[in-house]
Amino acid sequence: MKHPKRINVKGHTYERAAIEESTSRKPQSWPVYQSEEEQEQEQVENVFGLGGGELEKGKFAGYAYWYENVPDWAERDFPDWAVNQHRTVIIFGGGYLPYPEKMITDQDGDKWELAKYYGNSGEADCWICGAGGNGKEWWADEFEDQHDRPPKPDDYCGLCETEYKDMPGYVYVAGGYEAVYRLVEDEENEEE
Ligand SMILES: [Zn+2]
Repeated sequence: MKHPKRINVKGHTYERAAIEESTSRKPQSWPVYQSEEEQEQEQVENVFGLGGGELEKGKFAGYAYWYENVPDWAERDFPDWAVNQHRTVIIFGGGYLPYPEKMITDQDGDKWELAKYYGNSGEADCWICGAGGNGKEWWADEFEDQHDRPPKPDDYCGLCETEYKDMPGYVYVAGGYEAVYRLVEDEENEEE
């Protein structure tokens, strides 16, 4: 099992002290990402079961990863949920994570109260080469289309970095939380 290269908390990225193998990777892979940030964003979407493209680019109250809405599978916990009044923040990175803050203030000055949060193992089948995804054969076909040759045993999936010989792959971003925040109504915002 690989260890994450970085952890991301409230928009701050922490590098792990010992990183040997990450920069020596060959460029051949499928899929190809423009940057590590782009790869990481898709890893987060994969692990947290988002359809893709749901994560917002801008920061919300300092958190790098968040989206409007509550998690699909948690909607029963929020019978009165409304998209513009609920936001889910994703925090991951493993053991040294802080708990989600009870109250946060966004860039417009609105306050959001923690409604509920859920633990997440930080691991999921890779949706590209994993058993729960498109799978090894599909990945190999895509690789061959891209490189005009079949993959070698050490060619790897660009998303989860699992080598062909070890597929099906898992995406691992280390454990974390999905924290659902609810907008605090104006009257309450003005209380203090
Ligand atoms: Zn993969």
